[in-house]
Amino acid sequence: MKPKTIIEPFKIKSVEPIRFTTREEREIILKDSGYNPFLIHADDVLIDLLTDSGTSAMSAKQWAGIMEGDESYAGSKSFYRFEAVVKSITQMKYIIPTHQGRAAEKILFSIVGGPGKYFPNNTHFDTTRANIEFSGSEAVDLLNETGKHPEIRADFKGNMDVEKLEAFIKEKGAENIPLCMITVTNNSGGGQPVSMQNIRETKEVCKKYGIPLFLDACRFAENAYFIKKREKGYANKSPLEIAQEMFSYADGATMSAKKDALVNIGGFLALNDEDLAMKCRNLLIVTEGFPTYGGLAGRDLEAVAQGLVEVVDEHYLEYRIRSVEYLGEKLVSIGVPIIEPPGGHAIYIDAKRFLPNIPPEHYPGQSIVCELYLEGGVRAVEIGSVMFGKYDKNGKLIPAIMELVRLAIPRRVYTQSHVDYLIEIIAEVYNNRNNLKGYTITYEAPMLRHFTAQFKPLY
Ligand SMILES: *Cc1c(COP(=O)(O)O)cnc(C)c1O
Repeated sequence: MKPKTIIEPFKIKSVEPIRFTTREEREIILKDSGYNPFLIHADDVLIDLLTDSGTSAMSAKQWAGIMEGDESYAGSKSFYRFEAVVKSITQMKYIIPTHQGRAAEKILFSIVGGPGKYFPNNTHFDTTRANIEFSGSEAVDLLNETGKHPEIRADFKGNMDVEKLEAFIKEKGAENIPLCMITVTNNSGGGQPVSMQNIRETKEVCKKYGIPLFLDACRFAENAYFIKKREKGYANKSPLEIAQEMFSYADGATMSAKKDALVNIGGFLALNDEDLAMKCRNLLIVTEGFPTYGGLAGRDLEAVAQGLVEVVDEHYLEYRIRSVEYLGEKLVSIGVPIIEPPGGHAIYIDAKRFLPNIPPEHYPGQSIVCELYLEGGVRAVEIGSVMFGKYDKNGKLIPAIMELVRLAIPRRVYTQSHVDYLIEIIAEVYNNRNNLKGYTITYEAPMLRHFTAQFKPLY
């Protein structure tokens, strides 16, 4: 008999205490931080679900690699190990380290971007969009229709709308589209996976018009595991083989190692085009560093290389995807509305359905985020009208399309009892939902206001 319980595929060698606070203390802390969890000191948080980026726990082998790191300025042994591992997964010819994902994006779009150009994607992540727009180009999201409906359960809600892509290329002209991207998994669309068939079909369209296809590969291993579990023909393939096939349809990739490389800092650009790789390396030297360290220490390159070996382990991925799914299942069973099915790295609570009586201009997502902190010291993040709201010319709020609260799950950090505690806290907030109040903004910066905004509860 195969046991039903999927256990953490590791034992714990080093622990980091978390600090307990009382509800009274949290009331003061929350008020002092202007009811904005971004401004709470991490030490005052019990369970921190702000992001899965750069928050992974490293393994003993990664820490050993940190000691082994070769800090030579040029030609470091750690670079060659890093390069070999990245090549084994991506099969790409030119591997360029960067200090994180957005640095790879900045270099790439500084070279291929510029005014009058267009970059389609299933959904651009915000730094990708920002780097494209900063170069003067336009970033375009062409997500398939099912991906836009939180309540529909489907296997691959991250898929590109291939028909729309082809129509878009015909409309704008292939010569104005330097490359097309697919983000795996689709972070901004709820961490939903993209199928192999969709990557293949996107590649066919790109090939027909001579447009290179790039993967935004931050969560390539989680995506590979979803393909293994959900797509016909992949059940008996290893996550590594599936990842290799995913990359085989791409001409390049950008990567934030802070996600699926299980490290706290790092990234890379992987390319097949020699001329483009040369241009990227030249710019890298100006902005990041010599091509064999790219803004990282040798020890960081060792940790990334080892993390990439560990992340494609099937037991790790089974545990990872299952632990997020477990949280989602429990929340659904008690009636909490979430984006379904759960994605790879986070659960998204649908604040509109959770708090139907709080209108967008009183920020229902912010209300839930504050209550989770007060109730249990849990830190989540609003992804709704606080983050994406805009104003019309009369100063009236134009709300975001969705009002969400993201619970991002750091990799290998929390155990099942942390998750069970979290479920109890969310259930308590949900049971008390009729007493929750909205918020107004008392201070906001002109750009990216969610990071520093101050709020006031509407009592
Ligand atoms: C995190 C992320 C990035 C940017 O990476 P950083 O390391 O944070 O700069 C780009 N794309 C996606 C899909 C991401 O999740």
